[in-house]
Formats: sequence, C-alpha cells, structure tokens
Amino acid sequence: MLKLININKTYDNKVKALKNINLELDKNELAVIIGPSGCGKTTLLRTIAGLEKQDTGDILIQDKLVNDLAPYMRDISFVFQDASLFAHMNVFHNIAYGNHGNMDKKQLRQKVEKISKILKIEDLLTRYPSKLSGGQRQRVAIARAICKSSKLILMDEPFSNLDAQLKEDLIQEIKMLQKELDLMIIYVTHDQKEAFALADKLIVMEDGRILQIDKPSNVYRHPINPFVARFFGDINIFEGNIEDDYLGFANYKIKLNKHFSNGKILFGIRPEDIIIGSTIELQDVQKEDRGNYYLYMAKIKDFPISIKTNNDVLFNKIDFPKEKIIVWKKVLDEENQ
Ligand code: ADP
Ligand code: MG
Repeated sequence: MLKLININKTYDNKVKALKNINLELDKNELAVIIGPSGCGKTTLLRTIAGLEKQDTGDILIQDKLVNDLAPYMRDISFVFQDASLFAHMNVFHNIAYGNHGNMDKKQLRQKVEKISKILKIEDLLTRYPSKLSGGQRQRVAIARAICKSSKLILMDEPFSNLDAQLKEDLIQEIKMLQKELDLMIIYVTHDQKEAFALADKLIVMEDGRILQIDKPSNVYRHPINPFVARFFGDINIFEGNIEDDYLGFANYKIKLNKHFSNGKILFGIRPEDIIIGSTIELQDVQKEDRGNYYLYMAKIKDFPISIKTNNDVLFNKIDFPKEKIIVWKKVLDEENQ
C-alpha cells in the first residue's frame, strides 16, 4: 500500500532530518510513528504527503511512484495538531468539503452523519467553527480527513493540545472508525501511552532513523536497543558478560534460554519482571508505596536496581526469570560515552 525506499532528507544542507528510511505498510493498518521531539516524525509525514521533497529515495502508493506528484494528486488527507477549519462554512460543509468522487448528495450526507455520530459531533453539524471548543474543532478536522475517502490518512500529533480524558475518548473513536471504514492511517505521536493504545504497528524513530518496526508488545518485550527499551517504560540496564550461555553479572551466573556469542554485552530487565527469589542478594532495600504496586529500590553490589511488585513485605533475594532477560550486543559508541 505504502512503500518508502531509502528516503533521505536534509534541511538547509545541514540538518539530516531523515536518514535512509525504508518502510512498507499494508492496507487497513493503523501505523503509529513514535519518537522523541525532533527525530523527524513530522518531516517523514510531510514527505509522504508531498509537502516536502525528499533528497533521494522513492515513495510508492499502491505500487505507483508518486515522487513527482503534487500533494493534492497523491490522494492523502492530513490532520495537523491545530485544526484548520473554514470559518465561513458550518460543520457539515467543513466535513463534506473536498473531492468525493462520484458520490451523490444523499450518499455524502449519510457518510457525514455516520462519521459524525462516531465522533460525537452529530448535533453540531449546523454550527460554525467559531462556536466550537478545541476538542470539537479537532473532531471536525478528523471527520473531514476521514470523510474524504483518501487512500491514506496522515495525522500529526492531532490531540496534543487536548486534555487527557478527551484524548482517550478520541483514540477509541479513531480506532473504531479505522476498523469500520477500512482506513489506512499513519499517526504520529511522542506519547507512548497513546501509541500503545492505537497501534497495530509501531514505527520507532530516533535522530532521523527508524530503529524498530513491530507490534507494540514486541517493541516492549524485545526492544532493539537500550534507547527503545527506556523509551517504552522502566527498565534496569546492566553490563554483563556471556560465557557459554551463562550471563555473568556481579558474581552471579545466570543460565540463559538462548544462545549468544561470548563476550561483553548489555542486558535489561524490567522492574515488574523481577521475582522475589533465592539467587541474587540485595542490599539497602527501600520501599515506596505507589498505590497500585510497591516500588523497591535496592543495590546488587554497587548496582542500583528497581523492582515492582504487589508484595508489601520486605525481601532481600530476587531472581531474574531467564525468559525476561533482554540481551543486547554492546555498542562501541556506548562504551566510549
Ligand atoms: P519531530 O516532528 O519528530 O519533532 P521534525 O520532523 O519536525 O521532528 O524535525 C526533524 C529535524 O529537522 C529537527 O532537527 C528540526 O529542527 C529540523 N527541521 C524541521 N523542519 C525544518 C525546516 N523547515 N527547516 C530546517 N530544519 C527543520
Ligand atoms: Mg512534529
């Protein structure tokens, strides 16, 4: 459906905003691009839409090369962070605006009504934008993008100005619309919670590159590197040494359940995956009541570690379940830092 091949984009001959981007997305997929501010998410969306031109590389939509097509020829709709509505048109006409192919008036009305209902703006169709709240305006902008029946809908942090509850509602509504109308949506956010709630497929970016493309649970369970691991939740990261499928760490040897070549590595274990056990001894154990769990902070030799558990009785020995240990090859750059 959408294919990006070796896309590079540099601004003003110096800022490398996109570095060798390769991506393939299927129809009916809700893909979420996530990464810290400045990593190139907006640039990538604008390049797909044709609002920026890549320096090198190809963009294909339904197997058609669109590199030289103007934005309006690409059959894409775009929702930005700030909804831009036509002030002189009421909500109905804002939503129905644009090219709807050979749909007649009645069909178009039905479509607007169906989408408005899911987005809970069906009672606002005769209102003008100046009489809408921020959340309502954003709903209208989304309704318009969806109503246009473009092949591809791009959304760039559309809810970042809205409050948390509204955000959650809208996320559920987008999901519903996407499944019901078979839409292909690419949604950009820097918010992990939002990304997990929405994504069929996560595309994790950092510094102009795509680091990992996978479903949310795999990104969480098998993050490609420590950056991705930390970006999606808390994790303890240590240096270790692998020898004949044993992980050596602070005088302990832990049998691994997979084969890795011998040598120094980094490994991670999430605080909620650590279990109270018998192998690894803790010092300086401290407990914090976090409401729905307890957070224990302790040391293994000199290494600080945090553990999440429901257990409220202090303990001083733990185990790392071997299937929960995430092993990364040690990267030279990190060694030099
Ligand atoms: P994100 O959306 O992930 O926050 P952007 O795509 O907006 O990231 O920006 C990526 C990089 O490109 C940043 O370093 C940003 O400063 C730079 N950049 C974005 N737009 C422009 C522009 N029009 N001119 C020059 N540099 C830009
Ligand atoms: Mg952006």
